[in-house]
Amino acid sequence: MGRAALTERLRYNVEMLCETFAAGRFQCNCSIVADPATREAIVIDPGGETARIAAIVRANDLIVAAIVHTHAHLDHIYETAAVKQAHGGSVCLHPGDRPLYDAAAVQAAMFGWAPPTMTSVERWLADGDTLRFGAHGALVVHTPGHTPGSVCFEIAAPGERTRVFAGDTLFRRSVGRTDLPGGDAGQLRQSIKDKLYTRDLDALVIPGHGPTTTLGDEARANPFVRAA
Ligand SMILES: [Zn+2]
Ligand SMILES: [Zn+2]
Repeated sequence: MGRAALTERLRYNVEMLCETFAAGRFQCNCSIVADPATREAIVIDPGGETARIAAIVRANDLIVAAIVHTHAHLDHIYETAAVKQAHGGSVCLHPGDRPLYDAAAVQAAMFGWAPPTMTSVERWLADGDTLRFGAHGALVVHTPGHTPGSVCFEIAAPGERTRVFAGDTLFRRSVGRTDLPGGDAGQLRQSIKDKLYTRDLDALVIPGHGPTTTLGDEARANPFVRAA
């Protein structure tokens, strides 16, 4: 592409860069979302694939502004320290999951995984916070139930489809399990109905595991939680 065309693309703020891939033994969906103009990016749930994350960061010349977590189950935080070490960025978590984060070694023992290297949380998230990356922002939506500190990240941009990174709260035609410590099935249903099905139903949902869906499809057809 010629320089003029490139300048044009930048001026009109081409689509956000967004890459999602399954990482680690539990195939947690890790995402990198970036502002194409400023190259600032957030990394969501680096449960593995540190090298792949580095390759994407290098190929797109990205600056990692934040490493954010939908919750602190081990498969979503396993390589946070390695990504932090390689790229910087402030490590963010909802305080409801602080006990789980602090017990990462216990979680690893439960799964039979090697204990992870840990790094401290630098920003504690609250419902309604916005995490800025360039001209864009990820809105923090607290959706307890799968874990007490589970959050979803909503990213909206003019002319683009809204994306909701739902962690293990909502899956395509399923929901997160609530039988682990801190889980609460009633709370999960309430979170999905009140905090997710009330948003833009055309929003694309990128769950913590498995294929994407939309809020509208789940509101209509999720066998576990239907819209009220
Ligand atoms: Zn989980
Ligand atoms: Zn998970």
